[in-house]
Amino acid sequence: MISTQDEIAQDEIAIVGAGIIGLAVAFHLQREGRNVRLVERGGVAEGASYGNAGAFAFSDVLPLASPGMLRKAPKWLLDPLGPLSIPPGYLPSIAPWLIRFWRASLPDRYRASIAAQCELMRLSSRSMENMVTRAGLTEHVRRDGNLQLYESDAEFRASLPGWEAREQEGIPFEHVRGPCLAELQPGLSTRFIIGSFTPHWQTVSDPYRFALALFDTVMAQGARIVRGDVAAVTPAEGGVALRLSDGTSSRASAAVIATGAWSRSLAEPLGDAIPLETERGYNTTLPPGAFELHRQLTFGGHGFVITPLSTGIRVGGAVELGGLKRPPNFARSEIMLKKAAAFLPGLKTEGGKQWMGFRPSLPDTLPVIGTSKASNRIVYAFGHGHSGLTQSAATAQLVTDLLAGRPSEISLDPFRPDRF
Ligand SMILES: Cc1cc2nc3c(=O)[nH]c(=O)nc-3n(C[C@H](O)[C@H](O)[C@H](O)COP(=O)(O)OP(=O)(O)OC[C@H]3O[C@@H](n4cnc5c(N)ncnc54)[C@H](O)[C@@H]3O)c2cc1C
Repeated sequence: MISTQDEIAQDEIAIVGAGIIGLAVAFHLQREGRNVRLVERGGVAEGASYGNAGAFAFSDVLPLASPGMLRKAPKWLLDPLGPLSIPPGYLPSIAPWLIRFWRASLPDRYRASIAAQCELMRLSSRSMENMVTRAGLTEHVRRDGNLQLYESDAEFRASLPGWEAREQEGIPFEHVRGPCLAELQPGLSTRFIIGSFTPHWQTVSDPYRFALALFDTVMAQGARIVRGDVAAVTPAEGGVALRLSDGTSSRASAAVIATGAWSRSLAEPLGDAIPLETERGYNTTLPPGAFELHRQLTFGGHGFVITPLSTGIRVGGAVELGGLKRPPNFARSEIMLKKAAAFLPGLKTEGGKQWMGFRPSLPDTLPVIGTSKASNRIVYAFGHGHSGLTQSAATAQLVTDLLAGRPSEISLDPFRPDRF
């Protein structure tokens, strides 16, 4: 599928990274009549875009760096297999990121992050609808909302400020109890007494299949793909130069860096010190038929979701701030699966496939979308954390505007690479 040692023609825009962000960027640039070439060192969409929870979480506008999260964090951190964990050996490396995370949760910054996230999510919803229709992906999208579940009135009450913030932004939702709750998801454990239903939340059939379908579309429209591990992207006369780790190099008219959690080392030599870290996430995908799931369920108090996919039932989430190098600890997948079996009595837990993925995360929960310090022909599109699938089409639209040199529909200021 991927050719090697192929020269990049100079009128092409090189997109480094063929995850969901790179693929969406390719699609949008092609719609402007631009020639694109993807440069990918692994398989298409085999990074974080492979095994995520598959949600278009347009109403998920609350930054992770929040007063609520800081309240929960100490308890979660005490449990080494809890929803949030930091391997002790990684603490010194991640300390500067954690300090920025704490600063981002202060009231003024928290409110500013919500406002920026709302703008981006509104654009994401419109942009995704367009991309899904135009790229022929409609059959991959489920439109049955999300149900967030609570075990106690106290837990529900603690969530109310977040719902008030969503209400102010005009996001529709409904709190449900009793028969209404049971109707939204039959077979749920009675320990869950309240639910919050967000109807506009969507999920995809399977995030990998969705990304591959988008890849097929961009290839059918004339994109090219090269296998290569990009070591550096630098400004060059009339465009940019790409140096690969095998020593070869090539030129392009411009480049988009969409390398997810691995983007830091490409941005740094361009003068942009971006505090990108990874939030490692885990899951298990059970075979189809493991449970009759009516829609995606969120267990916020336990930090995981259960998603109905065409390929099975995916149980997972969690955040492990452990960097890019440590081996996965699949005890995390197992603990979430065990809880899922208690929350959905009757869930068949056999035959699951475990996965770990690297969310690319900035401390303020906002992505980086902007030009590099070294050249406005090198554009960054990474750092989408928990929302990269959701925000892929909007990011691609904004990147396309940047490369066309025209103003974008929303302000790019909150996403500037030099905001830290
Ligand atoms: C458990 C989990 C659940 C999630 N659930 C959701 C969800 O429900 N909804 C949602 O919106 N988001 C979700 N996310 C987040 C989402 O998966 C990511 O934000 C998104 O996939 C990031 O896409 P990306 O294209 O930036 O990165 P990736 O998909 O990681 O792609 C980056 C690509 O760049 C390539 N690459 C890296 N360095 C180089 C280099 N030097 N040269 C060439 N190629 C390179 C990599 O091989 C990779 O293919 C979840 C993430 C996890 C881990």
